[in-house]
Amino acid sequence: MSFRGRVGRFDHVFRFLVPLIVIHAAVIAIVPPLQFGVVFGSLVLLSLWPVAVQHRVFTRMGCRGYRAAPGAKKMERSPRDCCALCGNTEFHPKLTISRKGDDFSIVQCGGCGHVFVADPPADTANHVEIEKIDWAFRPRHHQIRRLILAHLKSGQRVLEIGCGRGEVGYLLRDDPVVYQGYEPARGLSDFGIRAGVPIVQEIFRGGDMADAIVIDNVIEHVAEPRQMIEVAARSLRPGGLMIVITPNVHDVRAVFPQFRKRHLWIPPDHINYFSARDIDFIFTAANLPQPQRFRFFPLSLKDYRFFPRAFSETLGLSIFGHNVFAIRN
Ligand SMILES: [Zn+2]
Repeated sequence: MSFRGRVGRFDHVFRFLVPLIVIHAAVIAIVPPLQFGVVFGSLVLLSLWPVAVQHRVFTRMGCRGYRAAPGAKKMERSPRDCCALCGNTEFHPKLTISRKGDDFSIVQCGGCGHVFVADPPADTANHVEIEKIDWAFRPRHHQIRRLILAHLKSGQRVLEIGCGRGEVGYLLRDDPVVYQGYEPARGLSDFGIRAGVPIVQEIFRGGDMADAIVIDNVIEHVAEPRQMIEVAARSLRPGGLMIVITPNVHDVRAVFPQFRKRHLWIPPDHINYFSARDIDFIFTAANLPQPQRFRFFPLSLKDYRFFPRAFSETLGLSIFGHNVFAIRN
């Protein structure tokens, strides 16, 4: 694998510090003196965040509270011999997490800094019993739909890779675009198909061309995330829209132990942990333009809870999940 797309080590300065200096200047200009101390103090604390990222504080944070279930069935493993992003074979151990009855080694690539599980299970698809499944519509599904409808013309094609139940397909059912989901996990896809969502129950291997491709909370689960985006990018027509959503290893909420335990260090469900730099790297490797953050583009007034994230993304800060898109040249 090549190192194409590798980002310079000082990029965090431009990604985080410059926007923060701009915020500080804006606050000094508009906030009355009495409130200034509180606001400025908060911003100084926020400024420490890129320092924490640079020194990988979140990656090193322990995960107390995990317990391996005694006597749980050991899962079959598929150890990795190289980084799925840059191909480097040198890893540094970071954490060992005991979860769902097994221990998992979380390591950091010595080449590109990507963090991942070195010994993931062989099958990461979530095969749930259909009787236990119901729709799980989230605000992001509506946001994806709005982005698609803003970009695509009538009759154009949407592919969703790893679509699960197919919430996006269900939301698009009365819209003038053609949806096709791919989902190898039975149960989830059985449920979507029963509800009328067109889903192929296989891994997407390319060859099916589209004007928009959605990969929503998938690349953190698969053994070859870079390859998945590359295959998808080759299936995107010129001018097509690529939407990728995945958690952020440097999510600012990781300062809370409960967040780390429930949403961050959760192998074997999540086996890859992406930084903003990793996301840029993958898009460049797939010959896609640098990804743009969702910002305010797909939000409605009902999405007011996402305004802080949109605001920080507008300033160039990646402090919550990665919600990104790119238009293929
Ligand atoms: Zn690497």
